[in-house]
Amino acid sequence: MSITLGPSTIASQFWCEMAVDLRRKYGEVSTPEKEKGSEIHKDRFLEVLEEIEVEIKTPGDKLHSNIHNMMVGLELYTNEGLTHELPILAKFDSAHIMGIIDEIKLIEEIQGKNKLKKTQIVEMKTRRSLNPPSSQQILRDKMQGMIYWYGLNSMINKETEMGDFWTAFDIDLIENNFNEPILSEAYMKSLQIPKEKQKEYGSLLSIGNLINETLKRASKLPELTKTIEIIYIHQKTLVEVHRERYNFDERFFTRGMKWALEYWSGKREPGSVGQLNSWKCDFCSYYTVCPTIHKKWKE
Ligand code: SF4
Repeated sequence: MSITLGPSTIASQFWCEMAVDLRRKYGEVSTPEKEKGSEIHKDRFLEVLEEIEVEIKTPGDKLHSNIHNMMVGLELYTNEGLTHELPILAKFDSAHIMGIIDEIKLIEEIQGKNKLKKTQIVEMKTRRSLNPPSSQQILRDKMQGMIYWYGLNSMINKETEMGDFWTAFDIDLIENNFNEPILSEAYMKSLQIPKEKQKEYGSLLSIGNLINETLKRASKLPELTKTIEIIYIHQKTLVEVHRERYNFDERFFTRGMKWALEYWSGKREPGSVGQLNSWKCDFCSYYTVCPTIHKKWKE
């Protein structure tokens, strides 16, 4: 069975896999820092795009809104050379990777005597402190950037296919009639689709066409530069506190992904931080429910 994972979830395994496991069991713990971070990301999105509020009721609504945002982001990038909050979808082994890239921008890269237009991935991280991030945080964030790189590269290279969308969004192609809508009336109403056009607009066939067009558009993007950028911003002042520029490392990425997916496919139990990194536990939202900590208390 296919599993769909977000880049930040996979990258978090590089921080502490036990925390990822406990998040699955107990849910996300919201903190003021996370909320502030989401607010900043939303502001950046609104800098370049307009937000339309929609009512999501069915898996079809979720898929349509994702593919619509993808298309809008790709069009904006094609016209302006910059977009924020671009959704991506790709497959690695049996897992689907679904996420949102903070920013892609058009750059010029010098190769020999030529200047080539390339697409660069930029990831933005917000920090509560003005200090630069630790090497462990940078490692986790670099992995996240590489997952985005792999995801967008798969779309540019036509490795992402229409079937990946149906699977990742749980759309049953056998049960659904191709000409019947898979979008809810409430969703189409929030998009202001006239009632008489809803049947056609929301059909599996129309959404398949939209996926096709979006994938075609993605495949026309200038190829990715190997360089990924991570910018760390102070939450309160929005001052840049650190910047990382590094290259996509195929070997590191593939080994890291294979290791991470072993946990998701049930091949091994979640690992926790070692003695050397036990300082991470002092900042962890799952401290009181963590089996590693319970074991320590017993000892
Ligand atoms: S308390 Fe420590 S070992 Fe447990 S989940 Fe948190 S960081 Fe991981």
